[in-house]
Amino acid sequence: MNIISSLPKLKELQNSLNNESLALVPTMGALHDGHLKLVEEGLKIADVCLPYIYVNPTQFAEGEDLETYPRTLEEDLEKLEKVGVKAVWLPSTSDIYPNGVKITHKAGELAKSLEGQFRPHFFDGVVTVLHRMFTLSKPDFVMMGEKDFQQLQVVRHMVREENMPIEIMGVPTVRDRNGLALSSRNAYLNDLEYEIAAELNKILVRFAQNMITEKEAQNLILEIGFDKVDYCRAVNSEIFLPDDPNRVLVAAWIGTTRLIDNMPMSA
Ligand code: AMP
Repeated sequence: MNIISSLPKLKELQNSLNNESLALVPTMGALHDGHLKLVEEGLKIADVCLPYIYVNPTQFAEGEDLETYPRTLEEDLEKLEKVGVKAVWLPSTSDIYPNGVKITHKAGELAKSLEGQFRPHFFDGVVTVLHRMFTLSKPDFVMMGEKDFQQLQVVRHMVREENMPIEIMGVPTVRDRNGLALSSRNAYLNDLEYEIAAELNKILVRFAQNMITEKEAQNLILEIGFDKVDYCRAVNSEIFLPDDPNRVLVAAWIGTTRLIDNMPMSA
């Protein structure tokens, strides 16, 4: 597998493409089957699928888990090789932030509610890193998970606004056998916390099917053992406001671990 860890090596890959299409798969590593699903879809849709692994400092706020975020590079590379990836991009911070680690792009209106309200720095960090990644690698497709649904829509919006010739491909959330959405942060959960976490999707299904109200869903999440609910809301997924809702989204804490999930509402 070609490990691309400098900008000249990235240029070499681009020069070798000869009109072949490129699918980029942005990740922060600690790869699980959700990430690998994006990679598999990227391999199907484009001639070359290029995952990248980079833990982006600007999307973490002071006091969040930047230092402790799981880093499992050896295993990640093995997993990528196994699914047939030929090249992986491991950018350095100076490649991504040549003028110092700071926000250079602001996310738009879609970033104001839900995640944006509770992690105000987050989407600016995401669009800053992705704008740079897209400019450097010039992908035709970018594979992103519906697991982070607001992020997906914020990035689609950025690409439209900036008129970038890129198609953002949303990939449905991969879940484990208990329905828990796979996440690198699930590694923080102990056995008891895992059991609680695995109930979250079941409450969300009932909320999405209009069997319970927003308030009831929030109360149930606390009753099953979560410590705090940042939000559990039904919104319209084009504007992320409650008008004409078609998607339910949740962010909740078990101890120091914050989990998010979402799903479409039944018609
Ligand atoms: P992360 O490494 O957490 O930044 O995630 C990288 C990409 O993988 C993002 O586009 C996520 O939405 C996507 N992703 C993470 N977890 C899942 C999952 N369980 N199913 C599908 N995509 C996922």
